[in-house]
Amino acid sequence: MTGPVLKHLSEVKLELGPAGDATAEGPWRHARDAQNVVWMVLDVPGNGTNTISREVLEGMDAQLDKIEADPPHGVVIRSAKPGGFAAGADISAFRDMVEPDVARSLLERGHAVLDRLEALDCPTVCVVHGHALGGGFELALACDRIIAVEGASFGFPEVRLGLHPGLGGTFRLPARIDPLEAMTLMLTGKTAHLAKAEGLGIVDAVTEERHVEAAIRAAIDGEIGTTRSSLSSRAMALSTARSFAARRMRQKTEEAAPQQHYPAPHALIDLWEAHGDDAKQMQAGEISSFAKLLASETSQNLVRVFFLQQELKQAGRGEDSIGHVHVVGAGAMGAEIAAWCAMKGKTVSLADPDTEALGKAVKSAARICKDQHLNALQTRNSLDRLIPDPAQYGVATADLVIEAGPEDADVKARIYAELEPRMKPTATLATNTSSLSLADLARTLKRPSRFAGLHFFNPVAKMQLIEVVSHADTFQTVTDQLMAFCGAIDRLPARVADYPGFLVNRALTPYLLEAIQLLEEGQQKEAIDRAAESFGMPVGPVELADQVGLDICIDVADSLRANLDTPMPDIPDWLREQVKEKGETGKKSGKGLYVWKDGVAQKDSAPAKPDDDLTDRLILPMLNACVECLRKDVAGTADQIDAAMIFATGFAPFRGGPLHYARTRGIDDVRHRLLDLAKDHGDRFRPDAGWQDFH
Ligand code: NAD
Repeated sequence: MTGPVLKHLSEVKLELGPAGDATAEGPWRHARDAQNVVWMVLDVPGNGTNTISREVLEGMDAQLDKIEADPPHGVVIRSAKPGGFAAGADISAFRDMVEPDVARSLLERGHAVLDRLEALDCPTVCVVHGHALGGGFELALACDRIIAVEGASFGFPEVRLGLHPGLGGTFRLPARIDPLEAMTLMLTGKTAHLAKAEGLGIVDAVTEERHVEAAIRAAIDGEIGTTRSSLSSRAMALSTARSFAARRMRQKTEEAAPQQHYPAPHALIDLWEAHGDDAKQMQAGEISSFAKLLASETSQNLVRVFFLQQELKQAGRGEDSIGHVHVVGAGAMGAEIAAWCAMKGKTVSLADPDTEALGKAVKSAARICKDQHLNALQTRNSLDRLIPDPAQYGVATADLVIEAGPEDADVKARIYAELEPRMKPTATLATNTSSLSLADLARTLKRPSRFAGLHFFNPVAKMQLIEVVSHADTFQTVTDQLMAFCGAIDRLPARVADYPGFLVNRALTPYLLEAIQLLEEGQQKEAIDRAAESFGMPVGPVELADQVGLDICIDVADSLRANLDTPMPDIPDWLREQVKEKGETGKKSGKGLYVWKDGVAQKDSAPAKPDDDLTDRLILPMLNACVECLRKDVAGTADQIDAAMIFATGFAPFRGGPLHYARTRGIDDVRHRLLDLAKDHGDRFRPDAGWQDFH
């Protein structure tokens, strides 16, 4: 067992304890060092990341037998994976835990192991580098001391799977830090990066990797103290104070994650309000609540979405051959694309005839680095890799040229005419167009086979999807190369065909246009948005149209209307005038359909009860378009369409995707409803022929 230990030591220089007499059992390696300290090093086989599975907990249980039989001076737990401590629970196991009784008994066994670890007489120290998420964080919390290595982060992402912590987090975190802060972390699923984690008291010491061993010795010798009791924790021991706090939490949580769609955070608040002063009762409550939530439709759908995401990640796992990217156009999209690529390690040259745009692009790159929690060195390196290049010297050496110029076929053709002769013959040219036909754009090119679409979504840093678009002549090797490039820059690629609006804009446009049609009919903006938000859309269509930019929406709608047989609502003249003549394009100009202040749409109050009829009018055309795309092979499978819509538009994730929703609701029901809507409102609702074959 010395081999792998030494290999890791030489690769990443993690302090992993004694190598010589280490033994391995499943995911754990363990050894006693000369000071009688037991090291337990987690190294889940066959995986670059540790996840906390049944095997991990059983392996620990077996070790605890030995530790209890022959008590050491201390126990150290850490990960051998260079990437981090642990990413959380093994989510694939959740699929086998939908039967609440089965789930409960598995959870009880897991809890018993961590209770045992917590109850050891000797000091226990967990060393965390990289992420400690979910079950990994819970394992750390069962130790007496947590030592963080620079760059560590902590979080409970369970709410994103329709769950709350299930391995002791609900009572161990509130016992360690201010309970209100603990609840916020668990309810929001946000990650606490190191500075925050230190401020909250999650970690007891922070050190660099080379000082880890000294920090461990200090912790075991009782030289690293901890303050566990705050004013807030004393106050929250009182049920009246908890009830008061719980009321406020419920209100805030309801705004972000309505109970009807996201029961988990609400269940956690109920639990904490009832038992926040009693760890044992909280533990019992956590187990039964978690088991119940696992079986819920929300959680099942969110787990489905997790695996859809894994599939897209897998599709981007090829060998990345792109080192230098040249981006043309430093507007809203080009600037972000360039910054993102530079941040992810690419050399990026960025061109725009408007030098002011280049200056702004560098500034916005610094902001993106900050938002992504890059430290000073990483930020400097990223900005060093981003080279403003007004003379376009970079074209000659780039492996990939991404064109993000204005959405005008003639302008794009002029850009290509200038660039293509200067590009390496093996380089790929990709356009970020939202709606222009690739086949048309390719017509002017000398090497159409090396031309494809890389359709990023706005904002690039938030929207994970990129559509990789091929036209009839695109080489498969080119799209394969672009898929791997997307994976390398940590985005999710979806292969789609050169179809009007590709997949996502094809499906989203009817949703936005129907909202404008409803405005025409005199519906209140806020009521329209409410109808979509009540379904689970992250923003309503009126607000979204303003966010995307009304100018862009009109361009895309016109292009789709010109190129599709399906009828679409017209854009009213007043809206065209508002955009063209007054420049009221939405969020970016401060006024569109809403007035925008400090980036927030100024809304009147919406009716308390959403109108289901409006909801169907908005959502069902999107489903209809997805079925059309499936029928026309715009994307490979229904699952890929669901994944693309979720990761490009935020389509209600707890519904599992538009096509999954159609199946859950009942395909016949959706078709009949579309027929009724077509009778009442026009042919644009006519069910697509693809529903016949969709099951
Ligand atoms: P934008 O108007 O913000 O930026 C276009 C940039 O191109 C400007 O900085 C302009 O100075 C520059 N430009 C003009 N002529 C040029 C030339 N000859 N050579 C190089 N640069 C030139 O537009 P945007 O919103 O960033 O959109 C760019 C592309 O991305 C369009 O094709 C658009 O359809 C697509 N897109 C936009 C969004 C979005 O939400 N904005 C989303 C996805 C895709």
